[in-house]
Amino acid sequence: MTREQVRDYLEFYRDLGIQSIYSRPAQSGVELPKSTPLPSPLPLVLPSLAPEHDTLERILADIGDCKRCQLCQGRHNIVFGSGSETSRLVFVGEGPGADEDEQGLPFVGRAGQLLTQMIDNTAAKEGIPIRRADVYICNVVKCRPPENRTPLPDEMETCGQFLFRQLLTIKPKAICVLGATAMKALLNVKEGITRSRGKWHKWHDIPVMVTYHPSYLLRQYNQTAKREAWEDLKTLLHFVYD
Ligand code: URA
Repeated sequence: MTREQVRDYLEFYRDLGIQSIYSRPAQSGVELPKSTPLPSPLPLVLPSLAPEHDTLERILADIGDCKRCQLCQGRHNIVFGSGSETSRLVFVGEGPGADEDEQGLPFVGRAGQLLTQMIDNTAAKEGIPIRRADVYICNVVKCRPPENRTPLPDEMETCGQFLFRQLLTIKPKAICVLGATAMKALLNVKEGITRSRGKWHKWHDIPVMVTYHPSYLLRQYNQTAKREAWEDLKTLLHFVYD
């Protein structure tokens, strides 16, 4: 296998959410004489992260009455996403809270109301003719984690395949990741959210803006973070809609 093929494999598995690998010592037994030429590597054909001609409807059907991880046990509704398949901008949050679980829609609780205000007010102030309904909003995990805890790595890995398919289907002009969990699910960045926010990153050639999660901004003392998040949103909206 060539170095490029090894890199392609590693990138593919990283995109599937696999964060660590281990190596086994080479099996002894088949000793080739030093002079034996190695066979030339076969062309590498990795399966795609998404089926051809995927649609949001098909992804939702594939999720079905999902029992792939333990989050199914406490959920009332799967929260798939809201918005249109042709949206130019996608926001990705962490996972549904109590209100979202009850209504089956993302970002409808307090954090959601703040997100709506942020999108609608920033767009209006900047003269960009869009509202929340024009963007697509979804989460890394589609079922509410108990007590709103952070999703576990295996839950993110299991549900991440559906998030990736949503993003590859919509192919937005940009993605906005809200908070550290969404950032971890999509980006391989070492820095924390404070250093990564406000900068452009990439997921499968799609520009990604990182910013704070609205729940974090709801805390009274985070006034500076609030200002920064508004700046991030301004940059993002101009990039997508100018
Ligand atoms: N927080 C999230 O991350 N997602 C929601 O849908 C609601 C709150």
